[in-house]
Amino acid sequence: AQERYSSIRDKPAETRCGTRISLHMNAGLMADLPSLEGSGAEGVGLFRTELQFLVRNKVPRRAELAALYARVLDASGGRRVAFRTLDIGSDKVLPYMKREDEPNPALGWRAIRVGLDKVGVMRMQLQALIRAANGRPLTVMFPFVAQFEEFTAARDHLMRELDREEKLGRPLPEKVEIGAMLETPSLAYAPRQFFELTDFISIGGNDLKQFFFAADRENERVRRRYDTLNVSFLTFLEQIVKRCGDTGTHLSFCGEDAGRPIEALCFAAIGMRTLSMRPASVGPVKHLLRKSDLREARAIIETARERGDQSVRPAIMDWMRSQNW
Ligand code: PEP
Ligand code: MG
Repeated sequence: AQERYSSIRDKPAETRCGTRISLHMNAGLMADLPSLEGSGAEGVGLFRTELQFLVRNKVPRRAELAALYARVLDASGGRRVAFRTLDIGSDKVLPYMKREDEPNPALGWRAIRVGLDKVGVMRMQLQALIRAANGRPLTVMFPFVAQFEEFTAARDHLMRELDREEKLGRPLPEKVEIGAMLETPSLAYAPRQFFELTDFISIGGNDLKQFFFAADRENERVRRRYDTLNVSFLTFLEQIVKRCGDTGTHLSFCGEDAGRPIEALCFAAIGMRTLSMRPASVGPVKHLLRKSDLREARAIIETARERGDQSVRPAIMDWMRSQNW
């Protein structure tokens, strides 16, 4: 599939109306990094750090993690890598952690909630990231932030670790970007100060969608029941785009839907400019974006919304069929 799109690999994801969309890839293993070249992605929009914790039978050591993160940065050849801090709990359970018996793990003690309650592991990981950067830029994002205070608390931990490293005379990153994943509807309604403080927001659409529709992402019965292109969800996403636009906050979308060409086109049409996806999706998404006029797609979405359609998908599909592509 990569070969099929190799002719556009080095071309920008620029739409027919002249809008540039920035396409990044999701990764989680050292072995994913070679795809950065092959896919034509501009950087790593989401580096999931859970795997190194999941494949061991105890918490990995700081030096081990620092070495791995440094290799990831080496392999990225100066492109931006957004490291997501440990996102465990719910569907990702560490074998060596006492399993909490929770009736609703997806709504339970997970991700940043664990990080803020067990700060030792989070601080160790932040130290490893700072040491890995070693004078290079560092991008950190915190998963599953549900309210402003969780973000400020996590950010303060990172600031303290930076101070500590400086006092120890170690090299600091050249610059540090600190962002939050927007995966719960509550964060979309956080105070303006949150949007001003965070350097960027990345929508974790897999989780955001499950909470928006109250439909378990792991449950086959309900998982596909609600379309990502459902008008309610798109309208909600559009509000997030608007809030980020008001404060000039950089926004990206890194859930699985970003890698589905029709979804990606609709996200671009409602104003998103950065999408992060599995490497194999970069080609197909770019291919469709390059053929599309976002103003037309936007008009189709508007018409479907005015008409009261449940999802904009049928209208977008009709429009695509009429394009003679
Ligand atoms: C998401 O929720 O969309 C996301 C990118 O994170 P994960 O799939 O790892 O929960
Ligand atoms: Mg998530």
